[in-house]
Amino acid sequence: MTHATGTNTCPTWCIALHLDGDTLHHGASIELAVMRRPSPGERLFRPELPATPITLELVAHQEAGEPGPWIAVLHEGAAVLDLTTLSAEHLASALRDLAADTRR
Ligand SMILES: [Zn+2]
Repeated sequence: MTHATGTNTCPTWCIALHLDGDTLHHGASIELAVMRRPSPGERLFRPELPATPITLELVAHQEAGEPGPWIAVLHEGAAVLDLTTLSAEHLASALRDLAADTRR
């Protein structure tokens, strides 16, 4: 979707309505259900605690005027990571390689 916002044109991935002068471009968020290890604090009193499901939200965003987009990884609305697109690709690749190594 491409639409004009004042003097700025949205990137192709932007779905923001840009109401009331909002200048933040953002894409559709992706909800990703993952299983995470309980924190050391959680395991302190319950060492048998199994992996617990959480939902991460992944979203591309870019403030008007910024040179490039960012990929945010959010948990419960707070950014866990906010990466350049190249770093996001490197992270994805490294995670895939690490996970593959553990299955050998
Ligand atoms: Zn936009």
